[in-house]
Amino acid sequence: MSRCPCCRRELPGVETLCDQCFRAGYDRVTHPQPWWHRLRPRFARGNFAAFSAIFVQGFLKPRPGEPSAFEESLAERERQRRHEREEK
Ligand SMILES: [Zn+2]
Repeated sequence: MSRCPCCRRELPGVETLCDQCFRAGYDRVTHPQPWWHRLRPRFARGNFAAFSAIFVQGFLKPRPGEPSAFEESLAERERQRRHEREEK
């Protein structure tokens, strides 16, 4: 008597897998999950947030010789304020 390595059920004769486990494994081989099912756990919320943060940082990071979008908007606001002050 041997036992199924998956479910520890006793097996008759010289089988190495019980019927259930064999069919489950066969199912996995013949109907594999699409790749996005396997990827999905990696798109956990924390990972996505981290990715977004890095992306935004990279986007706002000033390139050499070029003001960042953030600094540019600050400068633009400053210019507007100065303009308004001059009009008064
Ligand atoms: Zn089994």
